[in-house]
Amino acid sequence: MQNPIFDKTQLNSLFDELQKAKTILIFGHKSPDGDSIGSTLALHHYLTKKGIKSQVIHPDGFPNFLKWMPATDSILLFDKHKDQVTELIAKADVIFNLDYNEQSRVGRDLGELLVNSNATKVIIDHHQQPDDFATYTFSDTNSCSTAQLVYEFIESNNDLELLDETIGNCIYTGLLTDTGSFRFPSVTPKTHLIAADLISKGVIHSTIHEQLFDINTPERLKLLGYTLNNKLEVLPELNTAIISLTVKEMLDHKTQKGYTEGFVNTALSIFGVNLAVFVKEDTHIVKISFRSKGDIPVNEFSKLHFGGGGHINAAGGASKMSVEETVNKIKAELPAFLEQLKN
Ligand code: 5GP
Ligand code: MN
Repeated sequence: MQNPIFDKTQLNSLFDELQKAKTILIFGHKSPDGDSIGSTLALHHYLTKKGIKSQVIHPDGFPNFLKWMPATDSILLFDKHKDQVTELIAKADVIFNLDYNEQSRVGRDLGELLVNSNATKVIIDHHQQPDDFATYTFSDTNSCSTAQLVYEFIESNNDLELLDETIGNCIYTGLLTDTGSFRFPSVTPKTHLIAADLISKGVIHSTIHEQLFDINTPERLKLLGYTLNNKLEVLPELNTAIISLTVKEMLDHKTQKGYTEGFVNTALSIFGVNLAVFVKEDTHIVKISFRSKGDIPVNEFSKLHFGGGGHINAAGGASKMSVEETVNKIKAELPAFLEQLKN
């Protein structure tokens, strides 16, 4: 069944603009994940098949385990190609915003360029509470991934026959990474029907799983071991687990980009734990990842205390305090937050 967010009149009007446009840009969010890279590339490959040129841009780099995806080498990164991206935005006719719904999610400087651009803006996204900045907002907060929405975008244009293995690989990656390998409550029968269709189009699911998840190096496993041995705190009375890492600890363990991906889910997998937090020091800021089970809205907690957001069961935020102070603030604020949920 087609997703009703893709209104036919809006789609027709958007495609009229795309046919006339000279410069079409497709943006994903900061610290891109599998859904951000997968959904932007899938849209790019689909538009290419329709004879429409586009350029994928991300604010900054992405983990090596996503680099096998077709055309990742054509992606422009704002932190590396600032001048080129600035020029492209200045002349852009259409700007797609995928897997985010507030322009600040691409970072401050790039966000400002987007805010000041007169291009026609399009949002395709599944996060809560979209900002009102786009001419076309295709938002479905119940969807498991933006990749699923890109599939449904293609479906609503009656273009599924254009969907090949290349587009399929990108969509499958977004589905898989944003659903924890089809395990989160956001997965629906439609998600599996889409996966089935992608496999029938030539996607080799076992290879994608290997490329995404069998990527450990001894260093990464040792970093995980160190984190669990030394930096895991379980708070049984709050059914919560907290892990943290400083820049120094990561440097000491030869940490590379993407190494800590999934650590927070390991904390959440502890029996009896239904809220997991990972506090990670970055160069200028401390990033926090929240994961939960059931109806604990970690996005609300993150918004309330760390200027962040995300989904009910997966959210992020940031703190200007030290790692230790951030952990202490979380421990101080959590009891009242969890208590108030009971009412
Ligand atoms: P992660 O913990 O994997 O970085 O992020 C989990 C989810 O929260 C993702 O869906 C991501 O888009 C969202 N998220 C992460 N950091 C932030 C943030 O600083 N602000 C907002 N609004 N969402 C975030
Ligand atoms: Mn996503």
